[in-house]
Amino acid sequence: MAGITSPDENPSAPEGLYARAPGAVVMIGFGSIGRGLLPLMARHIGFDPARFTVIDPDGSGRAHAESFGVGFMQLAITRDNYRAVLEPLLTAGGGQGLCVNVSVDVSSVDVMRLCHELDSLYIDSSVEPWEGYFHDKNIDISARTNYAMREMMLTEGRARNRGGATAVSSCGANPGMVSWLLKEALVNLAADLGIETEIPETRRDWAKLMQRCGVKGMHIAERDTQRSSTPKPMNVFVNTWSVEGMVAEGLAAAEIGWGTHERWLPPHARRHKTGCMAAIYMLQSGGDTRVRSWCPTPGPQRAFLVPHHESIAIADYYTLGTAAHPEYRPTVHYAYRPSNVAVLSLEEMFERGGKLPKKQQVLGEEDILDGMDELGVLLYGHAKNAYWYGSQLSIEETRALAPHQNATGLQVSSGVLAGIVWALENPEAGVVEADDMDFRRCLEIQKPYLGKVAGYYTDWHPLKNRGGLLPESLDRDDPWQFKNVLVRQPA
Ligand code: NAD
Repeated sequence: MAGITSPDENPSAPEGLYARAPGAVVMIGFGSIGRGLLPLMARHIGFDPARFTVIDPDGSGRAHAESFGVGFMQLAITRDNYRAVLEPLLTAGGGQGLCVNVSVDVSSVDVMRLCHELDSLYIDSSVEPWEGYFHDKNIDISARTNYAMREMMLTEGRARNRGGATAVSSCGANPGMVSWLLKEALVNLAADLGIETEIPETRRDWAKLMQRCGVKGMHIAERDTQRSSTPKPMNVFVNTWSVEGMVAEGLAAAEIGWGTHERWLPPHARRHKTGCMAAIYMLQSGGDTRVRSWCPTPGPQRAFLVPHHESIAIADYYTLGTAAHPEYRPTVHYAYRPSNVAVLSLEEMFERGGKLPKKQQVLGEEDILDGMDELGVLLYGHAKNAYWYGSQLSIEETRALAPHQNATGLQVSSGVLAGIVWALENPEAGVVEADDMDFRRCLEIQKPYLGKVAGYYTDWHPLKNRGGLLPESLDRDDPWQFKNVLVRQPA
């Protein structure tokens, strides 16, 4: 078995093998994340290129994949062919296989189950259903949420009694990295609040620590300031990562991990009837739902409440008490202010009734003039008001660190890399999410790719900077009520 080195000879980039894949490797999907991940895997994971296959129905990445000495199969994985295609590839030459699913429209749970049967390792960056599911209006909205996708994945994990070959679910930047940064943030916050604690080892102890810190909730708070070198033409959807992924998330119902401190439920919010009960959803598209949030560079910002896996997984992980009657649970949701061109693209898409224009573009690093992706957790409601902790990665740093990706992509691909290393080092962990993994080890691998990782306190809260001329229905007794965070029509 031979590891290969990256064609990229960047002297400032991290080096060295972190782990070896004992068998064949299959990468499903070779879009913006896959193309950025392959150079990182080539740099840090020992694998046999002759038993590494990239699969994508779009052949435009073939030359890129083949430049790393790996095979490329131009094919769509479907419900009908996944077993026949993946089984021989994952078992070729013996040893434990590794399946890296960074595609869209390929069922995570079905491929995860196949990997379990084959004793292969599995990782994905999102829980995806088969093509068409999210857009099928005959399926109840509650069943088309991230909540429902996650429940299916958890059911699969429980079915195998929490054992078997490791399957890492939803591991990139968010979901993924933010769960590891959250644990560091919590330890920092506890120290700054004068709370004495060991680093917690169990889920319950982490939740207890969050409760002791007085955290009411958190935003996964992101600002993408990467600017395109050319102005966006009308009717072209431009984004810094998957257009398809962004559109699916933007159109889907907004979802919020629903904390125990909340005393107002939005009128168009709905609760789930089964499962972990940690989240609610709104009868309103996430890409059309605005929230007040904060990031270090802009300060206060209006962001989109895009539905995301981690909003539910983190709220669930940090719950104390029973699912239906929690003693403590933080409110958790994404507050994403995408790049300017993506904001314009979303607006145009909604203006056209949710229709995607024919022309689409994912900005490559060569298309970007300047800017950075600032992605972290904003822990709020405690005695120091609010604390943002996260990665501030500029496009210039990204170019120096890794090829074939922008700052957004590198935050994701390095999160997948960390997840792969963890899975190879812990091959019998069953189905896990980022919150279940060793945050220290994962951040040790990922941090060299994250630019500046730093914490900032702010006295901003959602009752500040209102300044409107019309009356608003607010909860003035508690600035951090979701009622104050949500941007609503004036009452
Ligand atoms: P992308 O749209 O750029 O690439 C997806 C690729 O999947 C495309 O090349 C497409 O041709 C391929 N594909 C589509 N149908 C397929 C099929 N049936 N079989 C095999 N391949 C197929 O998307 P991306 O930005 O690379 O994102 C990939 C995945 O990662 C998505 O699920 C996305 O939601 C997820 N993601 C996660 C994070 C995170 O932080 N966790 C961040 C960004 C993206």
